[in-house]
Amino acid sequence: VTHLVLAKPSSSDVLADAMRGRRLTAFEQRLIQVLHDPIFQREDDLRTSEACALAYRRVRHLRDRLDLDARTLMGDFDRLLALHEWVALVDGTVMTVLTIHYNLCMGTIFNHGEGRAELRPLLNELDSMQSVGVFLATELAYGNNVQALETEALYDHETREFVINTPRPEAQKFMPNTGAEGVAKLGVVLARLKVRNRSVGVFPFIVRIRTAHALCPGVGVAPLGDKPDYALDNAITFFDHVRVPFHHWLGGAESQIDEHGQFTSRIASGGRRFLSAMERVQTGKLCIAAGGLGLLKSSLDLTLRYALQRRTFGPGRRDVSVLQYRTYQRPLFEGIAAAFACALVLQRAALDHATSAPSDLRALRMLAIAKIFISSRSMEVIAQCRERLGAQGLFSANRVITCWIHSNGVVTAEGDNEILLLRMAREMLVGSAYEPPAASEWAAPPLLESPDYLLSLLRERERKLVLELRGVMRTRGQSAMFDAWNELVCDAVELATLHVRRTALEVFNEYLNGVEDVTARDVLNRLLRLLCLKEIAGSMSNLMAQGLVDLTCDRRVASERSALAGSLLADAELLRDAFAIPETLLEAPIAKDYIGSYDRMSSPPPARESGFAVRALASLSAAEPELEPESAVKASRG
Ligand SMILES: Cc1cc2nc3c(=O)[nH]c(=O)nc-3n(C[C@H](O)[C@H](O)[C@H](O)COP(=O)(O)OP(=O)(O)OC[C@H]3O[C@@H](n4cnc5c(N)ncnc54)[C@H](O)[C@@H]3O)c2cc1C
Repeated sequence: VTHLVLAKPSSSDVLADAMRGRRLTAFEQRLIQVLHDPIFQREDDLRTSEACALAYRRVRHLRDRLDLDARTLMGDFDRLLALHEWVALVDGTVMTVLTIHYNLCMGTIFNHGEGRAELRPLLNELDSMQSVGVFLATELAYGNNVQALETEALYDHETREFVINTPRPEAQKFMPNTGAEGVAKLGVVLARLKVRNRSVGVFPFIVRIRTAHALCPGVGVAPLGDKPDYALDNAITFFDHVRVPFHHWLGGAESQIDEHGQFTSRIASGGRRFLSAMERVQTGKLCIAAGGLGLLKSSLDLTLRYALQRRTFGPGRRDVSVLQYRTYQRPLFEGIAAAFACALVLQRAALDHATSAPSDLRALRMLAIAKIFISSRSMEVIAQCRERLGAQGLFSANRVITCWIHSNGVVTAEGDNEILLLRMAREMLVGSAYEPPAASEWAAPPLLESPDYLLSLLRERERKLVLELRGVMRTRGQSAMFDAWNELVCDAVELATLHVRRTALEVFNEYLNGVEDVTARDVLNRLLRLLCLKEIAGSMSNLMAQGLVDLTCDRRVASERSALAGSLLADAELLRDAFAIPETLLEAPIAKDYIGSYDRMSSPPPARESGFAVRALASLSAAEPELEPESAVKASRG
């Protein structure tokens, strides 16, 4: 009998698994390899239009090298999430193009046109990226209220076509990526279907926007100009009676227009038809949350790498690394703790989504939780990274500021966080697929070293707040509906925010309970407690008012946070390895030996030339070995 002995994973592997949150597939490994291709090397000082053109070249390069096809991507969350996470880390604009092309555009065509042979040529065109797919839902006057959109699709029974039209300025499509000349675009356009002059709800329609040579007849596009560091060709887009054939209507199996021009649908209400048309936005939450996670991880990794090198003064010491300071440790290790929580909550949401019915409220809420938690944490933590990097954080070459800009997009797109929180709060208040946490039975004195105890405090805070707000709702029931809701809305957002954070921390705790490796478990335990204590510190006055903690707790929480952050210094390198991001992908001066990186850039120019232009030349050619050897440069400086 032969025994197969499997090597026990190292603590570093266990932490890397937790930080990845999903299994490492051959696809992911190949993707990381491909992102090392020269086309992905950072290029500075590009004009927006050049950066945009580069983004489309990169998108096509990825498609070709990875042989991407929509059907495989749609059916494999590990692939889809890995793609978003890693690509965002290298180029956030490319991630955005990919998510719109695959998830929103092609995903909507699959969901509503599955198996229809006449759509095959269009899907092939998109799969080959002969045309890039775009998604046109939002309108100038209809953002978060997009359900009220006004673009029309008038059914012409005689020709069995639809006429897509923008009836007034408010209905112009706002900010689809349709502006770039030379890139063919095929759009999924959300429009209000009118049959016999009666609106029957919002549906997706396939509309050709532009070929590689020109805009299509009847389509108007006005580029929206720059968004700093975000080189997407966003544009206002409108339609002047554009005719599309019958099969471009993505009515799904449930809705029909028969040979007499009669519309019928098994989806009862206009509201539900709209939700069905927007279905891919749900998966989109996962996709862009994965992108947000990539931005967060790379920013933290870069900050940690720099902090380990950067020296400063220290009382009684000649110099110390900036990471020796508690004021540096706390935000950085809390940020890293948040990154673990983000990875784990993303994976949980993906699993719930893959194993539940599309209308399952709890699974949908989990998607929103993942999207809100990851994007809001990313934006907050990346801003702190920028500040902790000092002036280095301002340079695009060091990437962090660009990551921060892209994390803003993740907050707003695929369901604005605030609106998702409001919806969640409403469901919690009316008890829709939600029960308040059970009352805490914790009798022992506060145990700050126990994640279970810390979580019980957060559960109790949520329970008390939801019951209190339900009481307020009952007493205000008589007021006008809007006024009553408006009075409550700030507390409602706070309630949902608590729920989002508490849920993410519970997911982290469940994962921790399954970790066997002693070192990894200990590190994760301290990170989780750090995160819980941060939440508790933020709610301290409420917790006191609710009698959940006493006055001494505030000080104890502050000193425990500080002590935990300090204890994690010894694990800094282990944590950096957990990001498992090849240094070669980070490609920033601060990623390693920042003095050496800048020194190479500032090497003296060759004889006879001087000034800024030459410095730029020297930096461009720094990587080329045949240039002046560094030793010679150093010698000539004397
Ligand atoms: C990077 C990026 C890419 C995008 N790509 C596309 C795309 O390809 N196709 C497309 O169709 N759209 C796209 N969008 C648009 C996106 O869908 C909208 O930005 C989003 O729906 C929010 O709409 P808005 O920006 O108009 O915000 P608004 O609806 O104008 O909201 C403005 C502010 O008011 C608040 N607010 C709004 N309504 C309420 C309310 N009822 N209660 C309380 N507060 C409220 C919001 O929280 C927000 O802070 C993209 C957006 C981004 C950021």
